[in-house]
Amino acid sequence: MHSEDDSSETHPDSPPCDPIVGIDLGTTNSLVAYCDERGPRVLEDDDGARLLPSVVRFLDDGVVVGREAHDEAVLHPETTVGSSKRLLGRSALELKEQAGKLPFRMVEGPRGLASIQIGERQVTPQEVGAHVLMRLRDIAESALGTSVRRAVITVPAYFDDSQRNATRDSARLAGFNVARIVNEPTAAALAYGLGERADRAQTVMVFDLGGGTFDVSLLRMLPPEDGQQALVEVIATAGDTNLGGDDIDRLLADSMLARAGVESDDWSGLAPSIRQAIIHFARRTKEALSERATVDVSLDFDGEGGQSLPECAFAISREEFDRMIDPLIQRTIECCRHVLRDGGIPVEDVDRIVLVGGSTRIPAVREAVESFFGHAPYTALDPDEVVGLGASVQASILEGRTRGMLLLDVIPLSLGIETMGGAVAKLLVRNSAIPARATERFSTSVDGQTSVRIQVLQGERELAEHCRSLGTFDLSGIPPMPAGIPKIEVEFIIDADGVLSVNAVEGRSGRRASTQFLPNYGLTSDEVDAIENDSFTHARADMHLHRVIDLRVNAALDVKWISEALGRVRDRLPSEYLVELEAEIEVVTGLIETAAKNPAEIDAAQFQAAKESLDQKSMRLHEIAISESLRDEKP
Ligand code: ADP
Ligand code: MG
Repeated sequence: MHSEDDSSETHPDSPPCDPIVGIDLGTTNSLVAYCDERGPRVLEDDDGARLLPSVVRFLDDGVVVGREAHDEAVLHPETTVGSSKRLLGRSALELKEQAGKLPFRMVEGPRGLASIQIGERQVTPQEVGAHVLMRLRDIAESALGTSVRRAVITVPAYFDDSQRNATRDSARLAGFNVARIVNEPTAAALAYGLGERADRAQTVMVFDLGGGTFDVSLLRMLPPEDGQQALVEVIATAGDTNLGGDDIDRLLADSMLARAGVESDDWSGLAPSIRQAIIHFARRTKEALSERATVDVSLDFDGEGGQSLPECAFAISREEFDRMIDPLIQRTIECCRHVLRDGGIPVEDVDRIVLVGGSTRIPAVREAVESFFGHAPYTALDPDEVVGLGASVQASILEGRTRGMLLLDVIPLSLGIETMGGAVAKLLVRNSAIPARATERFSTSVDGQTSVRIQVLQGERELAEHCRSLGTFDLSGIPPMPAGIPKIEVEFIIDADGVLSVNAVEGRSGRRASTQFLPNYGLTSDEVDAIENDSFTHARADMHLHRVIDLRVNAALDVKWISEALGRVRDRLPSEYLVELEAEIEVVTGLIETAAKNPAEIDAAQFQAAKESLDQKSMRLHEIAISESLRDEKP
């Protein structure tokens, strides 16, 4: 029983004395999150890890839980249990066909339920889950500095009563009081605040590709009626209980072994430690391929009994990898078709797609989803954290603590990008109504530059360093061109849910890149006010700095071009013109240097006048340079 402490006054930065945390108890990984006025956040363990592998090793007198149990599984195959969620609340009979694929020995336990044989004893999946939950509770208690007894726990939407009850039992064994069991796809939608702002029902597809399983769920979200939460209804679910990141690891491992001359059917002949090592290695390679176009691989493993693999080195490209996993991706798309058919919803009627599960980081998965649904899925939140974050949002609603969180119909702070020299170009100004869209043109600052880093900023100040950085992304593969020639168009689109999509395209080569952010994530209304006030205090100085930076950057480009032209046609210029021109270049160069060292000293109007005068003066030079180059081109 808990009493009045729910309604007691608490300091915004310290959790209430009986907080409710959100828990994603996953097949592969689990995590605990907490949501206060600042919004939801994942709680880290003492080493800064956010995901806890759902793996438990049983010792004679205790357990090892998480990363260590996972990494040393191969050394203790008989006593290590992973993926126990697959057994939770299911009968041994139901699972008979799958038994061979499980990483441990399944047996029939009490009431015919599936259990796990560990040496001499039987362990129920509830107990395994309880050990994971206890570890999460320790993490939460040490992160929040208070005792934690209540939790919202997520389960797959297709879990039946028996599976849900088994989850509750796990929680009870771990000493948790379950405040609510929430469906994983519903939690994912809550994390994005879907439904909160809508004025009509929305159809949301949640695509969850995790470590061992694939789930796709079709939700209908009804907008909240005054004071109430948005209503979420699961219309249909589909999936494949044997499709996930593990299968991808195995495919990649097979192909790497084939290159080393080991046929895939010879796998069983390999020492267990080599088998485990190659799977770990394949997984790391796969994760690296989500970031890079190629990954260099060098195989050289030694196992027990002197067994080792032939040494070999090669590169794996993302293209190759994509081709390899395409059949798996097609199976996920087939499930999407299936769930739409079951729900009687045409694909065009899906308003939002949310990506969940670590395996949706794979670019080919994102592309396949986008091309099937015809619009980009939500990816602003980390896909392996989104369920846990949503669980914590549900928890904070139950705590009655979501009031301070920002859910607005306008952009509370301006959004822009950093430009040359550290100034900010604002694309969307504060208080713009959402949805909104804006574009702006930029170019490169260095000759032959083939990639640009785009930093997305939020705030009212004029300099990037004084704004809040939402993140960066790279537009690469731009063909080498002189500075200022590439045409880079950056587009900001903020949709009705407040999700910001940033797209960049280089017009001459057609190269594009895009990313998403949740600009209101982790901001309270008090912080927004503080940021706004700060901008008033510094407005005058900031404006000056911004102007000086722009002048400096543009003047430097002018001087660069003028110097290049001078280098080519110097001897064709009348000497008195040359003297005048060089004098002006010297003045502007001096101003550029001062502006870089001590911008406050610069008189912006004077700088502007000097720059304009140089532009004027150099026109004759450019005319001569152009006619010269035309003459050169003649046969
Ligand atoms: P679950 O819901 O099954 O507990 P997760 O959502 O945590 O699992 O997903 C785990 C899977 O995601 C693993 O197979 C892991 O290799 C994969 N994964 C994590 N990061 C990446 C990445 N950057 N690229 C590809 N796969 C990834
Ligand atoms: Mg999951």
